[in-house]
Amino acid sequence: MNIETLPSEPPIVLRGIPASAGIAIGKAFVIREDSFGHTRRSLAREEIRREIQRFRQAVNKTRADILQTRERMLKVLGKSHEALIDVHLLILEDALFSKDIERKIAQEMVNAEAALVSVVEQIRKTFEKIGDEYFRQRKDDILDVAKLVMRHLLGRKGIALSELTERVVVIAQDLGPSETLSMREDLVEGFATNIGGRTSHTAIVAQGLQIPAVVGLKDVLNHVNSGDMVVVDGGEGLVIINPAMSTLENYRKVREIQLAEIRDLEKYKDLPAQTKDGHRIVLACNLETPEEVRVGLSNGAEGIGLYRSEFLYLNRTSPPTEEEHFQNYVSVARQMLPFSVIIRTMDLGGDKLVPLGIGGFGEEPNPFLGLRGIRLCLRYPDLFKTQLRAILRASMHGKLKIMYPMITSLEELRQANQVLGEVKAELKAQNIAYDPALPVGVMIETPSAAMIADWLAKDADFLSLGTNDLIQYTLAVDRVNENVAHLYNPLHMAVLRLMRSTIEAAHAQGKWVGICGEMAGNPSFTRILIGMGLEEFSVPAAAVPRIKSLIREISYEDAKKVVERVFAQTGDLDNPGLFSRIS
Ligand code: PEP
Ligand code: MG
Repeated sequence: MNIETLPSEPPIVLRGIPASAGIAIGKAFVIREDSFGHTRRSLAREEIRREIQRFRQAVNKTRADILQTRERMLKVLGKSHEALIDVHLLILEDALFSKDIERKIAQEMVNAEAALVSVVEQIRKTFEKIGDEYFRQRKDDILDVAKLVMRHLLGRKGIALSELTERVVVIAQDLGPSETLSMREDLVEGFATNIGGRTSHTAIVAQGLQIPAVVGLKDVLNHVNSGDMVVVDGGEGLVIINPAMSTLENYRKVREIQLAEIRDLEKYKDLPAQTKDGHRIVLACNLETPEEVRVGLSNGAEGIGLYRSEFLYLNRTSPPTEEEHFQNYVSVARQMLPFSVIIRTMDLGGDKLVPLGIGGFGEEPNPFLGLRGIRLCLRYPDLFKTQLRAILRASMHGKLKIMYPMITSLEELRQANQVLGEVKAELKAQNIAYDPALPVGVMIETPSAAMIADWLAKDADFLSLGTNDLIQYTLAVDRVNENVAHLYNPLHMAVLRLMRSTIEAAHAQGKWVGICGEMAGNPSFTRILIGMGLEEFSVPAAAVPRIKSLIREISYEDAKKVVERVFAQTGDLDNPGLFSRIS
């Protein structure tokens, strides 16, 4: 970036929620719902037929969607409204629409998205000239249909991040974890969204990919256009649009300092995660994809404390096969040896909704309280068994452990273990090898699980505190809702009490306890977490060096005293002053 290209607009500073640390500087790529966020791509002659096929498939899927909506509409609104939706079908079948798009793909040799936008633009202009109310409405209908088709062309939410060709800072209303996952780290400098919270899965993926991100900005789209210069300060939760030259220079310097700090932390890589008075902790990392294993290992992680296997199910419309699961787990297990890998069985639902063709899925009014995690697995045992078979088979290729998400009762744990038992029996009957002693753990991420941790610990080999959800469900604060982000307090006494009683209950049964929520990767909480007696910390791969450096500076005996002081408080922990006393 040189001075001549700096915009002359006044700078705008927006504050959001810090989602992934680091500083991104670059040109904005703004995704507006109605601009489709598509990318134009030229085709080679031999690609044309396939592209037209792809467009026809999108049209077919759109037709199926419209017919479904029509049925719902008939039921809810009655026959008098039939005509409304029939207009959409007519537009979809209209030669002016579909045939023109196909012609454009072939003649101009461009991708279907670009052809669609260009045809819709022409239709829009023609209709605008007519100026009649009836035609104005028809123009909106055409836009609606075009959006539906575009959505199918681009995938579920209609954002073509995977097609970016230059380095940008992505600005959007919202990004789902699957869209974030499809970002190419080498092309996306950072991102900023209107929606979201600090522990949303979108934020977690951004941390995994080490992409600086700010979420929950509420109205960033009103202030920025594609091509504007932007700075995303993921650590502070700031977005600066059209920064002054001096601001830009300062940020470049800060970015350099941050990178130097990260390089400096490399010296801890091969040192043990041990307090200065010799208390050893297992410092593992949380991973979403096998690609991140490299980052975890090079940062000195001693295993994977949470492998979020549900990412295998994202960005697709049918569940992965047993073989796909198996290959994935074997690859991760082998790379991590001699360390172990805790595979969290799939935790779909909540903010990870997937169109897998499963009835009722994705249409729940309260997905975080719905068919999520183990509930979904127990409702669809075949889906669950496929994953368990793959994990058991892969257990012969490394050190694997299983962990169930979203457990709320002993019955659920027993049911899950029963399915596991059935899968083991099937494998045995087929003479397929697996590790019979594969440890099975439970995530403690609901208040109910924390309150019966003594019972759960009897049936489990270990427990792991999933504080992201534990905080959400204990404090009734949606983890992805920026409006209540200020209430999301990891140090709330209710949360700390549940954590401490869980740890004590597990220890009484001789079982170890880990923590895999984002709280574990936040340096402000390292002391209190060590003092609570957790045996394992599993943190985002990028946070391993920083947390290790802190563990090595802390005295276990002092940390235990801090915990005693915190629990002796009679007041309430919403007092922010306590943060400094704990950290
Ligand atoms: C948690 O809830 O703390 C957790 C680690 O699981 P996830 O963030 O994937 O819901
Ligand atoms: Mg969770």
